[in-house]
Amino acid sequence: MPNRIEPLRRRSPPGACPPVTVQGADSICHFRPLARGAQAAAGESRDGLTGLPDRQAYVHEIERTLDFRHAQGALLLIDLDLFRNVNGSLGHDCGDCLLRAVAARLRTRLPQSAFLARFNGDEFGVLLRGARQAEARALAEAVLEWFDEPFEFGALQLLQQASVGIALYPEHGESAGELHSHADLALHRAKRLGRRTWHHYEAAMGQGVRRRQFLLGRLRQALLGAEFRLDYQPRVDLGSGTISGWEALLRWDCPGEGAVSPAEFIPAAEESGLIVPIGEWALREACRQFVAWRRLGLPAGSLAVNLSPRQFRSPGMVERLGRIIAESGIAPAELELEITETAVMEELDCAARTLAQLADLGVGIAVDDFGTGYSSLAYLRRLPVDKLKIDRSFIAALDDGPHDAAIVRTIIDLARTLGLRVVAEGVETESQLGFLRTVGCHEMQGYLFSRPVAPAACERLMREAAHLPGRFPRRSAGQVRPHPAAPCWAPGW
Ligand code: C2E
Ligand code: MG
Ligand code: MG
Repeated sequence: MPNRIEPLRRRSPPGACPPVTVQGADSICHFRPLARGAQAAAGESRDGLTGLPDRQAYVHEIERTLDFRHAQGALLLIDLDLFRNVNGSLGHDCGDCLLRAVAARLRTRLPQSAFLARFNGDEFGVLLRGARQAEARALAEAVLEWFDEPFEFGALQLLQQASVGIALYPEHGESAGELHSHADLALHRAKRLGRRTWHHYEAAMGQGVRRRQFLLGRLRQALLGAEFRLDYQPRVDLGSGTISGWEALLRWDCPGEGAVSPAEFIPAAEESGLIVPIGEWALREACRQFVAWRRLGLPAGSLAVNLSPRQFRSPGMVERLGRIIAESGIAPAELELEITETAVMEELDCAARTLAQLADLGVGIAVDDFGTGYSSLAYLRRLPVDKLKIDRSFIAALDDGPHDAAIVRTIIDLARTLGLRVVAEGVETESQLGFLRTVGCHEMQGYLFSRPVAPAACERLMREAAHLPGRFPRRSAGQVRPHPAAPCWAPGW
């Protein structure tokens, strides 16, 4: 076997690994440059900080390795977790010391045949010739364990952990660029899984990334080309059975692709920052539509518009929203902004200030998808929030047993105690509806009543409601059928 990972040999040839002479976080570190060891032969250019082969040598070495006929092996990318915090809190000198110590530790512990390079900031590449999946995983796990030992700088101990992405050659890449970018995708997956872990490349990751790139490329065009539209889903007051309001939901009919799900394009818009202009378009359009309904004399109730976390944090947001609201002619009290729990709870002090400014505009604030994040009603008490929307995952689970029913009951009880209104999202069955009524939920939204529909269907719904003052018709249980474009009347209202 070309690469024996167990037992891991500790190489410390005299002079190869520099002594780490750091005297504490606030003192300057002094390192002797690394002596040119066996690795020098692999590439001539060296990283000035650690003495390891640099990016150029790294690429050269991968290309040289892939050129061999029947070459096989693994590329492991090691990236330090949240390294920017070290630079940010302890200073760049300390960050440099840590990078050198990391390089030294990797260098002394990796198998002798492994090629180690630092090619970028806090990223290191390890080429393990001949390795297959099992050996690559074993090495990745060993690397994570090495990072569990703190780095000692005099009195200071720094725990710096890492994540690892693995790609195999030749199957995951036949060029240095391809192999590296696939290992990088695996590394990003490891980071998303919560860091201090490893992941190996899977073909589906590439498809996901290509799709994401496609969406990112098309979103700007979609905004300019007016490819977005809004559907609206009614909310129903459980006390009166009337439509209490509408939630505006973005739809994208992408030419040549068809409808793209918001679950797919909204995260891409969020990532690119385009959610800010897209969200503002949605607010302007929804307000325009709502005012048009009101002018027609339709009993539209109130309007809810989603505000993404990025939009919520974007500088000048409150002023821009204030202008859009004022220009549209909607009364601020008729508008409700839905903000996810996670957006509210991150950087709570800042979020509290922004929420207070929004509340000063006179609009209502609803916490969307409640229950999926921190779920802290204690915090919510301190914020100018009017409404909680219980995430549909809890409502869907109501039919599964008493556990989720107890959670929903508790959320509703606490919210009522705090004077908040509660909306249940994603109500699909009569038994869910029955339960929500018994526990005193104020409003519901879900396919049982109506899916999100286009403005013309909303108008039909409101006209029908207008003919039946204050109340929707009752139907027998047998007649209740969810329908994509029409309401289904739940019995008991
Ligand atoms: P959300 O704000 O929680 O919206 C409710 C989602 O639940 C909608 O999905 C709606 O179609 C779906 N839904 C409603 N009732 C039911 C039901 O009974 N069963 C099931 N299975 N689903 C139901 P949609 O339209 O796909 O939107 C998904 C998410 O995309 C929204 O979740 C919201 O977070 C985001 N989104 C949509 N429009 C906008 C927008 O204009 N701006 C921003 N920032 N986000 C938006
Ligand atoms: Mg919402
Ligand atoms: Mg929601």
